[in-house]
Amino acid sequence: MMTREDMLGELELLPEWKLRTQSALAEKHEKTIGLEAAPVLFPRASVESMGWQALQACVKDCQACGLAKTRTQPVFGVGDEKADWLFVGEAPGAEEDKRGEPFVGQAGKLLDNMLAAIELKRGDNVYIANVLKCRPPENRDPHGEEVAQCTPYLKRQVELIKPKLIIALGKFAAHSLLNSDATVTSLRGKLHDYYGVPVIVTYHPAYLLRNLADKAKAWDDLCLAKSTMSKMSESGL
Ligand code: URA
Repeated sequence: MMTREDMLGELELLPEWKLRTQSALAEKHEKTIGLEAAPVLFPRASVESMGWQALQACVKDCQACGLAKTRTQPVFGVGDEKADWLFVGEAPGAEEDKRGEPFVGQAGKLLDNMLAAIELKRGDNVYIANVLKCRPPENRDPHGEEVAQCTPYLKRQVELIKPKLIIALGKFAAHSLLNSDATVTSLRGKLHDYYGVPVIVTYHPAYLLRNLADKAKAWDDLCLAKSTMSKMSESGL
């Protein structure tokens, strides 16, 4: 009888993706991205034990960082709460801030096409979320403090969804999920790990809209994602 480790080895998911205990991973990840040190800026009940409703209400009222003052509304995430696939972007843009749903602007149209290319559809075994739930003004880059305050929400979403695979869209998603500052180019083509869930990194759809030549590489990443998911499903993972 093959063990889970043997099976992962057969699938060539090791050693890049190593199954470790949740608590060891949590400790390592939080220490390195400095979450321990992040001050709690408003009274927030313990996110780590929340169910969907409580978590959604908490995000709706969140005042943990300065983005609460400039957002129209937080953008929680959308899709199948039991999805095998989780796509993670950076932060809401203007259109998302207005409509309260992730990836509904131009980049969202491309993301929908990317999903269709691997026979997936928004909301159908797919969940879409961002690292930041609120729009940074003028679409500036997220600040470290904002990421630190928002990370517990994404982490809890992952725990509740229990996806089989996470696709990190672009460098901010990759950096905050993987606690790395490596380039997207160097992170592509491998399986990484977020609290025991395998992660594949690809380019952000907004980047692809400006760099059409890299669409072929994104297609390779999607093929890797699709074959990884098929192998995991075949092996009963
Ligand atoms: N870019 C993102 O990273 N997320 C969105 O929701 C929209 C654009």
